[in-house]
Amino acid sequence: MKRSNKLRLRCREIQMIVRGLLSTKHVLLAHIVPIRRCNLACAYCNEYDDFSPPVPTDEMMRRIDRLAYLKTAIVTISGGEPLMHPEIETIIRRIRYHGMIAGLITNGYLLTPKKIVALNEAGLEHLQISIDNIEPDDVSKKSLKVLDKKLQYLAELADFAVNINSVIGGGIRNPEDAEVITKRAVELGFASSLGIIHDGNGSMKPLNRSEERVYREIKTYGKHSYSRFYWFQENLARGKPNDWRCRAGARYLYVCEDGLVHYCSQQRGYPGIPLEQYTFADIEREYFTRKACAPHCTVGCVQKISVIDHWRDPQEEFSTHPLPLGEGRVRVSKFEETCDPHPALPAALSQGERDLRRVSDA
Ligand code: SF4
Ligand code: SF4
Repeated sequence: MKRSNKLRLRCREIQMIVRGLLSTKHVLLAHIVPIRRCNLACAYCNEYDDFSPPVPTDEMMRRIDRLAYLKTAIVTISGGEPLMHPEIETIIRRIRYHGMIAGLITNGYLLTPKKIVALNEAGLEHLQISIDNIEPDDVSKKSLKVLDKKLQYLAELADFAVNINSVIGGGIRNPEDAEVITKRAVELGFASSLGIIHDGNGSMKPLNRSEERVYREIKTYGKHSYSRFYWFQENLARGKPNDWRCRAGARYLYVCEDGLVHYCSQQRGYPGIPLEQYTFADIEREYFTRKACAPHCTVGCVQKISVIDHWRDPQEEFSTHPLPLGEGRVRVSKFEETCDPHPALPAALSQGERDLRRVSDA
């Protein structure tokens, strides 16, 4: 990524944070799904199918326009596998046309030099690939061995920020793989993050001894590894609940392929309002609504975004909608899988994080 583009992106992210601190009445981050279909079938995933058609591009344009109307700061395209949408660049262009930050989460399989150049030209600003292991196995084929060539293409050609997310826990056989993947990401000049996968009913499970060792080791890595800042993860690693205010439905929206707004990928169905009917009144209601699933939540992107508001506006009313984790609705959940970390966020949010720590310690 060119230095000038990096600086420009950093400035826009800081502007986004300042705007978020000044007003609570707009969306900070939206994930939008242009296609539910995926070309892989990871064993832990509940966010894909193998048949859905892409959402028509005109419809995607209307949804992006509506997110702009709701003053959304960052739009991250996820899936399924978003690169299977035939007009993904048009969608990215529309996000940039509205001045919003454009991100993409992909499994990387469809990245070619030509595709990377097309994403540059469309104005993509941030891309995340999650790599689960070194060699493909029956749990996941998002493997360093398969994807390393794609990473080299990205290092050479991408004019957007790249984050490589590695994982431990939840059936990943060799926790040491995460260390190798993180080292490779740093070597290629990418940012890196570490996700913790939880078991099939979403319950909290502390890391075992070797996972814990890898987790601690990765946290000591250089400046490229932002996950060392992240305090929520400390509690997840120890199997403890977090005390925080989930602002899903307000500061964070998950827009599915049917155009419905959900709290997040793990609480689909609530509030379940079509995006074109979603208003600032809905944002205000959800901002003040406490979510029963918050203490054991593993959805890292919502936690990060919610840190901006943690110090203000307690949530008094419990949502009657989402069930607590472990009661059947929330299945496998992966801490960073649907997240779009922005390198500027951790530093800028560190004050909020310190506030959180004080609340939790009290
Ligand atoms: S985790 Fe990502 S790559 Fe794997 S099946 Fe789910 S959507 Fe596809
Ligand atoms: S699972 Fe997490 S992000 Fe989703 S609604 Fe519950 S607390 Fe919020």
